[in-house]
Amino acid sequence: MRETLLQVEHLKKVYESSTGNVEAIGDISFSMSAGELVCIVGPSGCGKTTLLKCIAGLLRSTGGTVELDGKRVTGPPPNMALVFQEYGRSLYPWLTVRGNVELPLKHKKLSRVERDQLIDDALEAVGLEQAAKSYPWQLSGGMQQRVAIARAVAYQPEVLIMDEPFAAVDAQTRADLEDLVRRLHLERGMSILFVTHDIDESVYLGERVIVLSKSPTWVQEDLTIDLAPERDQITTRALPRFTELRTHVYEQVQRAKRGQAVRPAA
Ligand code: ADP
Repeated sequence: MRETLLQVEHLKKVYESSTGNVEAIGDISFSMSAGELVCIVGPSGCGKTTLLKCIAGLLRSTGGTVELDGKRVTGPPPNMALVFQEYGRSLYPWLTVRGNVELPLKHKKLSRVERDQLIDDALEAVGLEQAAKSYPWQLSGGMQQRVAIARAVAYQPEVLIMDEPFAAVDAQTRADLEDLVRRLHLERGMSILFVTHDIDESVYLGERVIVLSKSPTWVQEDLTIDLAPERDQITTRALPRFTELRTHVYEQVQRAKRGQAVRPAA
């Protein structure tokens, strides 16, 4: 049994405003073990961003709890890293690739040698050794997102949260970045919570896929992806089991969109 890393319990979120309240998250519970790669999918506007903000301690929930490594999350946890879709805005244009990867490490008590080792190792892990001295604006979108991933790898978080990270890159780059995420998970045992609206991506990447209902959100399905850990863009996606799983998730998301799934009694 792997130990529980992240525990979300009866999470609720109501946005309050002068024009009325919006119940974004109805009641979400799920847990994630150390070393797992879990994908979250759901229709647009179902509350994925709200959920991630609550998990990352950036937004106060209205009810329920989030625990990371047994500690209640009440603000941004130091042992968590985030990678967003908008890589352009998450990198500092006046810092080199190396400088960007180094930045969060300055808050850790590390010697110069240790810090350099972590940076070198992370740049190698994402295939950017040659670009260390470049500036982000000199790189393609896919390479910029690799810098953001290298920064997260170097930081050595207990959990990496990725919010639609590849939505803005072309299909070939996206496939390469998906394989990079699989590799980081398999070879380094990284625990990754990956939010996407791409159903095929969720099945290709995840060990589990959590399907969210439409807002106010609850967990409509928590599906185990029983594909072999070693995955490949061509052979895995051609497997009959892959097609079965993606069809199943697709149907679930359609039901979620139409609000057809029945919420179990609490
Ligand atoms: P997703 O990321 O799945 O597209 P969001 O978490 O952005 O969904 O939004 C979930 C629901 O909460 C939507 O109905 C959205 O309109 C509402 N919402 C999101 N942010 C706010 C806010 N700051 N104030 C009021 N309502 C919000």
